Amino acid sequence: MTNTAILNQQDSTPVYGNFINGEWAAATSGGTFENRNPARASEVIGLFQSSGAGDVDAAVTAADDAARTWGEMSAIARANILYKASEILASRVNDVGRDLSREEGKTLKEGIGETTRAVQILRYYAGEAQQPIGEHYPSTNPMTMLYTLREPLGVVGIITPWNFPIAIPAWKIVPALAFGNTLVFKPATATPLCAVHLVAALQEAGLPQGVLNLVTGSAGAVGDPLIKDERVVAISFTGSNEVGQEIKRVASDRGAKVQLELGGKNPAIVLADADIDHAITQVINGAMMSTGQKCTATSRAIVDRKIASELTERLAQQIGGLKVGDPLTEGITIGPLIDEKAAERVAGEIGRAKSEGVALVTGGERPEALSDGHFVMPALFSDVDPQSRLGQEEMFGPVLGVIPVDDVDEAIAVANQVRYGLSASIFTRDLGRALQFVRQIQAGIVHVNSETAGAEPHVPFGGYKGSSSYSREQGKAAREFYTQMKTVYLDPPPSV
Ligand code: NAP
Repeated sequence: MTNTAILNQQDSTPVYGNFINGEWAAATSGGTFENRNPARASEVIGLFQSSGAGDVDAAVTAADDAARTWGEMSAIARANILYKASEILASRVNDVGRDLSREEGKTLKEGIGETTRAVQILRYYAGEAQQPIGEHYPSTNPMTMLYTLREPLGVVGIITPWNFPIAIPAWKIVPALAFGNTLVFKPATATPLCAVHLVAALQEAGLPQGVLNLVTGSAGAVGDPLIKDERVVAISFTGSNEVGQEIKRVASDRGAKVQLELGGKNPAIVLADADIDHAITQVINGAMMSTGQKCTATSRAIVDRKIASELTERLAQQIGGLKVGDPLTEGITIGPLIDEKAAERVAGEIGRAKSEGVALVTGGERPEALSDGHFVMPALFSDVDPQSRLGQEEMFGPVLGVIPVDDVDEAIAVANQVRYGLSASIFTRDLGRALQFVRQIQAGIVHVNSETAGAEPHVPFGGYKGSSSYSREQGKAAREFYTQMKTVYLDPPPSV
């Protein structure tokens, strides 16, 4: 990374700046906050700016000033910058992936994988920016040239969660830039270093000043003034349902365009005719990778009663054998939760389900040997009541519940009985049942014989019901949110 992002060192800990109007700078408050490694809480990774309303105002002013020039720049020139940023980030993929693991807690393999996804997103939108931006229509007047144009919105606010600290910022920021918008980016407080890496790659690729502004700090001090600023014409938010709905209320009230990507309670249905070995591997990957902290994580295994006890036993065996520890250590497959509050919350949910009489088959304890980090052992519950808290609420941790059902109709009905609808899987060899599932499941991302958490960067991503606000991110779908349409009637003057 360009070391201009580092303002100075405090006791050999780097102090990272905000990026406003093309400069890395301290917040006006002069204060900073610590970013700690969730696997080893005693390790401070960096100090980041505790920004406030004044910094948000400066960032929005810079974005507003840059909006016209950037919006009118040739899309080809914008694409060249994005492509160059992809090469810069690609050259750093191992270092950034390692920093991602250090600050978020997913394994090094996953950290590098996620950074590679950010590179792919930059490459994809460098191409997408060069695609047609409108349509040409016949008119009732044969002399009229009638066509549509897609134009940028203006200044967009980007608010992101910590669980995909580089991929989610990339899949919001990169299309927004490709289509000519200028941005103010507030990353999650828990993962500001990945935000710095992404912004630094774009800066080094030649992004003009003011086009992308990074402001770190808390939800109240940074997020709140950002969503209220009248000059910010659109907000793209990913995070929890409660925060998302509040942001939508505040920003929509003042007329801003709002996109929400929210939580999930994702089911994997396993029918009796499935390839059981494959289903077990996929269900465990979906439930436990990234310590279950994915919006698309498998949280409910809805299983044909005929195979439920065998499947539960085999799931327990394999989940019990997962290696938990520092995600930078070779052989570790499950890292920590993001912070102590999250670990306490997840352990509390497990304790609550146990006290309500749900059978805990394996895991769920806080490992004493890893007490410097925020660890919870991967947990499996059997015979979960689909209407219980465990069957309904997002756990956002390494917790899987098995729900036995009689047949595919009941499986789909149970799968749909939650407020969420992000992703869903079915495991079966029966094409008819697979297609019934595809038709009837209420989810934006649907898998047949693969895990709920798989998602490719060039196709639309988003959920049904409480998981989204009907819009979609990524692929060609991103253009819908980040552009507005102009219809042009072009007539020659009467003399022609
Ligand atoms: P969160 O608490 O809602 O926070 C998300 C972001 O919003 C953070 O940057 C946070 O800042 C900011 N924020 C919080 N309150 C705000 C407010 N009142 N005004 C403006 N900004 C505010 O969510 P999280 O814990 O980071 O992420 C986990 C959730 O995200 C889960 O529910 C998960 O399912 C969901 N998620 C959804 C998707 C998807 O695509 N559907 C993808 C990933 C995650 P601070 O960090 O400073 O608090």
